[in-house]
Amino acid sequence: MTRSNGDDQTSVCVLTPTGRGAVAVVAVAGRDAVKFVDGCFLASNGRSLDRQPLSRIVYGHWGTVEGEDLVVCRRDEHEVEVHCHGGVQSVAAVVSQLVAAGCDEIPWQEWISRQHECPLEAEARIALAEATTSRTALILLDQLQGALRREVEAILAEIQSGEIAAAEARVDCLLANFSLGLHLTSPWQVVIAGRPNVGKSSLINALVGYQRAIVFDQPGTTRDVVTTHTVIDGWPIELSDTAGLHATTDSLEVAGIELAHAQLARADLVLWVEDATASDSMELLKQQASDLGLELPSRQVLVLNKIDLADQPIPANAIATSALTGQGIEHLLAAIVQQLVPDAPEPGSAVPFNMRQASLLLAAKEACEQGHQANASAALDELLVRGE
Ligand code: GDP
Ligand code: ZN
Repeated sequence: MTRSNGDDQTSVCVLTPTGRGAVAVVAVAGRDAVKFVDGCFLASNGRSLDRQPLSRIVYGHWGTVEGEDLVVCRRDEHEVEVHCHGGVQSVAAVVSQLVAAGCDEIPWQEWISRQHECPLEAEARIALAEATTSRTALILLDQLQGALRREVEAILAEIQSGEIAAAEARVDCLLANFSLGLHLTSPWQVVIAGRPNVGKSSLINALVGYQRAIVFDQPGTTRDVVTTHTVIDGWPIELSDTAGLHATTDSLEVAGIELAHAQLARADLVLWVEDATASDSMELLKQQASDLGLELPSRQVLVLNKIDLADQPIPANAIATSALTGQGIEHLLAAIVQQLVPDAPEPGSAVPFNMRQASLLLAAKEACEQGHQANASAALDELLVRGE
């Protein structure tokens, strides 16, 4: 089942996160897998592992009869799974004895890579471990089932039959999905900016509370940034309040401004918030952006909050909300999704989702532009074939 790594080495790999569950799974694969595990494992029924039936759970002890009790399962001639207690020490005891016996310990990502002929599918399986919503998991599952591989194969076939322009157009379509792909495993960054007291923190609560889908809250990595993880329409989102900008009314603290700059620079979307009761709220919004020396980023939503207190009309390019009454929050949620994911991919679509894929697709695109058919093919080939 597991692809050989091309030599006679037997590998051991911890497949489960250690210290965070009742049971851990340690896999051993390679020519001497059965022999190595047999050297450490004493089956309760007294038989050696090669005399145990395949795919049957065997109870026993590790190392000595007093050793930890665990179970072992021989998957096939060259692969054995050890299921031990999930604690750090139990896992270390199993792995260290196998390493002492001559096994080579490898990370789980490498283990998964060896189980797939195509690196795109291995990468999808690895990325699936980090998908936190069913929507993102389903898109990665499509890639695991070959959506991206088939598209790359089709593009390669086009290049090889000289249809360079058509191939380039298809590469462009794939690259257009890349931003979405990157955010299948890490959340979109949505930053809420605005003067103190306009209701930024209240809006975060309203956005998260409305959706009732908090994954977890964490204190900011720096004193001034508070982030909240949530899910909007199936997309993972990290909301952060630019607490650093709270200093902007009087003196602009250098540290606060730098932090806000960094935060705004890496934001996928900025929600600029102003008080709807301020008569010149739109001017105030523009003023803030220029105070910060920022061009307004391309992806932004203008929000006029405290609409429950305002009686003047709201400009068409802004969204009116009340964090207090919930008015307009649904509209704001829809606007956030519209900005981040204007076209959600159809089921089964090809979506590239990591930097390796994006840079090879870019290389293929450039080669197409320059008419270097061979270079374009080479870049696409590299997507499909595992490097050594
Ligand atoms: P921040 O400094 O921008 O984070 O503002 P806060 O969220 O801390 O809110 C400042 C004050 O405005 C608090 O007293 C909130 O209760 C109030 N507030 C926030 N949003 C609204 C709203 O939509 N309507 C009303 N009437 N009050 C609000
Ligand atoms: Zn705040």
